Amino acid sequence: MINKKEYSNWLTAMQLTHPLVIAGPCSAETEAQVLHIAHQLKDTDATVLRAGIWKPRTRPGNFEGVGKVGLQWLQTAKQETGLLTATEVANPKHVELALKYDVDVLWIGARSTVSPFIVQEIAEALKGTDKIVLIKNPVNPDLALWLGAVERIYMANVNKIGVIHRGFSSYEKTKYRNTPEWQIPIDLKNNFPDLPLICDPSHITGNRDLIFDISQTALDLNYDGFMIETHHTPDDAWSDAAQQVTPEVLVQIMSNLKVRDKNISDGDYLSRLNLLRSKIDVLDDKLMHMLMQRMYIVDEIGGLKRDNNVSILQAERWNTILQKMIQQGHDNQLSEAFVTTFFKAIHQESINHQQKIINEK
Ligand code: PEP
Ligand code: MN
Repeated sequence: MINKKEYSNWLTAMQLTHPLVIAGPCSAETEAQVLHIAHQLKDTDATVLRAGIWKPRTRPGNFEGVGKVGLQWLQTAKQETGLLTATEVANPKHVELALKYDVDVLWIGARSTVSPFIVQEIAEALKGTDKIVLIKNPVNPDLALWLGAVERIYMANVNKIGVIHRGFSSYEKTKYRNTPEWQIPIDLKNNFPDLPLICDPSHITGNRDLIFDISQTALDLNYDGFMIETHHTPDDAWSDAAQQVTPEVLVQIMSNLKVRDKNISDGDYLSRLNLLRSKIDVLDDKLMHMLMQRMYIVDEIGGLKRDNNVSILQAERWNTILQKMIQQGHDNQLSEAFVTTFFKAIHQESINHQQKIINEK
């Protein structure tokens, strides 16, 4: 196990900005693209240029990264702009090449963190490196896997370690590409208070319009930095187009964010409040999703009734549902008045739907 006190806070030691901003394209596409974006980022809050060289794609047949040639482009970008560079490594060969081309920050992607075998191989390839190593959360909401990956890297005598929160997969569709599950990174932070925690709102949201809000929540929870996918023409990006922002938008996002003072007396209050609010947001999304699914079934029943020439309102069935729900509400401290209003509204909406369907040709 890691001795918590052994962490040297490399963020402070290296005099990197607070919050740390890592920005750049999802993927390196061409030398001109990498250099163009790097020059645009040079005078922003970003101090590290990210670009995926090898891209983990869920399904085969998509663009899988430019490979080794892109490492040379990152090196040129560093020479021309002074930005540090960052890329994902997913096997020992990637590590060897990234170190050879002097990449400053190597990150382990979400699809690698899930595999202790892969993490161990990467750890051995990184042994004793002075480079910064950031570990993304695993795709599944499993704190132990994430902690285990941190421990494997730490045991390889890497001391500039940090973690990146990029959200977790869920089968259920929500408004996020990967749901934040804020409790998991917070639990990780409680285990390792000195470990820098970076938020990747791009992969959490999958949608550039939601990046600001997630970033503000991260700051309210005392995160140490961001990794934000940035592209000069996001809609033309070869991967993750919908979630990338332009360098201009990145500047706007950063200037509108409120950095909270960690030491203000109500910091704890704000963190707790925001954590609770983010839980409510997730539940509200689920609630809407369930209502939508319920309505699909109501529509199907409408079709059945139409085809069999049966009337919409079946009072007996409706009364049974309502009484059952009132009883359940009672058992769960929800008032009869609330449950009745809520289900009457759902019932009315269902009747409206079925009325439309029954009168369809
Ligand atoms: C990425 O950063 O482009 C990436 C592939 O991220 P993740 O591992 O979080 O999916
Ligand atoms: Mn990406």
